Amino acid sequence: MEKVLKINNQKDLNKFYNRLFLYRSFLYNFVTFKLEKDKYDINDLILALNIKNRRKRLEFIYDTACQEIDDYFANKNVCDFKNNKCRLQRKLKSDKINGCCRKCRFECGGPCPTKNLACKLFYCSEVKSKYKIIKIEDLKIIKVLFWRQKILIKSDFFSSREEVIRDLYLNSYIIGVIRIGYRFIKKLFRGGVK
Ligand code: SF4
Ligand code: SF4
Repeated sequence: MEKVLKINNQKDLNKFYNRLFLYRSFLYNFVTFKLEKDKYDINDLILALNIKNRRKRLEFIYDTACQEIDDYFANKNVCDFKNNKCRLQRKLKSDKINGCCRKCRFECGGPCPTKNLACKLFYCSEVKSKYKIIKIEDLKIIKVLFWRQKILIKSDFFSSREEVIRDLYLNSYIIGVIRIGYRFIKKLFRGGVK
């Protein structure tokens, strides 16, 4: 079955956002959404709704959100590393290296080997003072998630892409927080946090 969405003004758009909780539910498992025209640049949301496998939909949402942030910061030397020290470490004359990634088990002295959306949101005061950063609310694709998943995704630092997607898949705020805490404690015992 096909459902054609006519979104021609702000009122239609708000109605669409308000109905997202229904469109992403099992009730629409056999419905393919189509946009009459993409006036508000929401085609990625339609693509996400048309992925009926829950895990694959989450992967698409996560990767699309990461890509949007990467594209926005492309060619910007955001952390401005010099001699392995980021702009904040140089400003604070810190003896530490490798920026905030030094606290993470994925830190490798080079580009991040995984894809972590919370890290990409740049909560760092020094970065925020130099650049207009993207907030989670700016990412339209995130609207397809449940509110619990939105809170989790912006708190899930130092986790791999697969771990974050698993946290989102479980769709429980309490279980997500327990899993994030467990990973953090595991890192402490392995000496991953300095
Ligand atoms: S986000 Fe801030 S603390 Fe982290 S590496 Fe960049 S400048 Fe340094
Ligand atoms: S997950 Fe975050 S903190 Fe860890 S290496 Fe990647 S960007 Fe750095």
